[in-house]
Amino acid sequence: LGPTVTIGEILVEIVATTPGNGFAEPQPLYGPYPSGAPAIFIDQCGRMGGAAAMIGAVGADDFGRLNLDRLRRDGVDVSAVAVVPDLPTGSAFVRYRADGGRDFVFNMWTSAAGRIGWTPEAEALIARAGHLHVMGTLLGHRQVWEMIARAAPALKARGGTVSLDPNLRPELASDGDLRARLDRIVALSDLILPSGEELYIAAGLDPAIGESAALHRLFNAGVREIALKRGAAGSSALLADGTRHDAAAFAVTETDPTGAGDCFGGAYVACRRLGMAPAMALTYANAAGARNVTVRGPMEGAGTRDELDRFIAETGRRA
Ligand code: ATP
Repeated sequence: LGPTVTIGEILVEIVATTPGNGFAEPQPLYGPYPSGAPAIFIDQCGRMGGAAAMIGAVGADDFGRLNLDRLRRDGVDVSAVAVVPDLPTGSAFVRYRADGGRDFVFNMWTSAAGRIGWTPEAEALIARAGHLHVMGTLLGHRQVWEMIARAAPALKARGGTVSLDPNLRPELASDGDLRARLDRIVALSDLILPSGEELYIAAGLDPAIGESAALHRLFNAGVREIALKRGAAGSSALLADGTRHDAAAFAVTETDPTGAGDCFGGAYVACRRLGMAPAMALTYANAAGARNVTVRGPMEGAGTRDELDRFIAETGRRA
């Protein structure tokens, strides 16, 4: 089967060097760094050695070239990333507050990313894709949702697979239209990669119901595998046959938490598609998430298989 494909935003991220509240005064900045959750996911997939490709759009500017060069270097097929002549590449300015929260200034759907749509290259890529990874954030974006809603069933019908990162905010998941989209994509998903409360959002259940009831609901909906992310508490892989694997988090110092979940997902999906068993995929995913938080920049810490092997050999686990 063909490559792992994702659809969505490609951005640069520019990071304030000092904590504070917002961007209301001039300050030194780091970056630009290649970014965008789907781009981070697919970059980690490519670095792991799995066939990987992306549908997206960038401007004909340095920010677009920075992203395309990075994705190509890491083995991602960018033939279906459109270069839009009259809009800039998307950007996100991020400032970490002293309390650990983040403030963003985005130029996302008003940038070239707003032009993501069917092109001959995107059609050709979907026609030969073996796996589609869906970012939950995109269910609220009509144009991209329409692409996902057409691509996912077509892929499934010819024996391909689908994964979902249900990274939807709870208040959005209770919106009627979004709920229906989420239920539709859950029913098409072989693998779901939720973090924290997203397990319950994906299942459409209140967290008070407990983890096993939520898992049961998702397995009944046809999901075969769930990779649960728990930040600095590690991760778990749960299979529809009742098998469970838990991975303690690696003991690392967090420099920049952005992108951990996407690197985790990119490594997990790539490993499974390379034929590894869930326990081994979980080890690599757990390492990919942890390694990425040690480096500033949302995808700067994504790792190749060799780099992750070294990281696993050299890094202790949290108690
Ligand atoms: P984000 O939205 O910030 O990209 P997420 O909420 O989807 O992330 P997390 O649970 O924060 O995902 O991180 C994904 C995985 O990365 C975790 O399950 C864990 O394996 C690893 N990880 C993340 N943060 C840390 C940390 N501080 N120490 C060790 N491992 C971590």
